[in-house]
Amino acid sequence: MSRVYNFSAGPAVLPEEVLREAQAEMLEYKDSGMSVMEMSHRSKAFQNIIDEAEADFRQLVKIPDHYKVLFLQGGASLQFAMIPMNLMKNRVADYIVTGQWAKKAYQEAQIYGKANKIASSEDKTFSYIPDCSDLPVSPEADYVYICENNTIYGTKFHKLPNTKGKLLVSDVSSCFLSEPIDIEKYGILYGGVQKNIGPAGMVIAVVREDLITDDVLPGTPTMMKYKIHADNGSMYNTPNCYDIYMCGKVFKWLKAMGGLEVMAQRNREKAAILYDFLDGSKLFKGTVVKGDRSLMNVPFVTGDKELDAKFVAEAKAAGLENLKGHRTVGGMRASIYNAMPKAGVEALVAFMKKFEEENS
Ligand SMILES: *Cc1c(COP(=O)(O)O)cnc(C)c1O
Repeated sequence: MSRVYNFSAGPAVLPEEVLREAQAEMLEYKDSGMSVMEMSHRSKAFQNIIDEAEADFRQLVKIPDHYKVLFLQGGASLQFAMIPMNLMKNRVADYIVTGQWAKKAYQEAQIYGKANKIASSEDKTFSYIPDCSDLPVSPEADYVYICENNTIYGTKFHKLPNTKGKLLVSDVSSCFLSEPIDIEKYGILYGGVQKNIGPAGMVIAVVREDLITDDVLPGTPTMMKYKIHADNGSMYNTPNCYDIYMCGKVFKWLKAMGGLEVMAQRNREKAAILYDFLDGSKLFKGTVVKGDRSLMNVPFVTGDKELDAKFVAEAKAAGLENLKGHRTVGGMRASIYNAMPKAGVEALVAFMKKFEEENS
């Protein structure tokens, strides 16, 4: 067996300890006589798994009692529709467009009402976060929407926007559990788990209780009402049982690591190793405005497409995989989520140094 350092943006690296535990329980979970994949979601064994996963998540993030935690399907992309369907009472919402995912959410919302783009960084290929201290928030807006960490472009809101009293809705897919979260600043916070938590196929939505009502847009499918999932403990239909089980293991791993403060410190240290190198390099350049850099997704370029391709190929041969940038940006991108060890980032920087020496 030889595991590589996997810098994929998602589906992404998982903690090796978690994979080993799942491997040990593959044929028989505890003394159930079967694997978690074969188990009824109505069984006592599975109810314990989901209850523990939720309890550990709540403890890790310090979720207040008046917020529900929902394990949903359909990816982050289904939330682009579910959010307006459940929240657009006035059929108006404001969107801050800082990348492809925010743009997709903004476009989806236009199906259901008036979605206003109140700020954007598209003029400079989404390489920065706009000043959000005094935006033209619509008086009748039902919420203000952001994508907090822009997976493709490598920017992050280090300060939340001033929503002027409006509800804040945030997609945290690629920074979920990378640092402490102050939940009470949000109406809804959600993320696909395949970036920084678990296997692809599930979204965790944290929704303030008063926003969970039957007052949804006409025609909203049952499966797209937060209330149906909240009333049924995320088991109105068969949930993604195995994903809930895997995420539960990751929550325990994060708790054992010391929790989200410790993860934030580790993530800052890991990112600094890479950014410090980029800032001193003559060959490689970071593509993002310094103050807006993500700690999770680090895009960089050489400025020469052929050299970029050579780098990606040689890095792969050296056991450093998935460093190719998103198809819409080119260059390289290293995603260094919670489960990427510091040694992986150090190996990447050592390889970049060597490549720089050989190619300049
Ligand atoms: C990957 C990603 C998405 C899309 O996730 P799906 O689960 O594939 O729908 C949405 N938002 C962000 C920030 C992402 O990184």
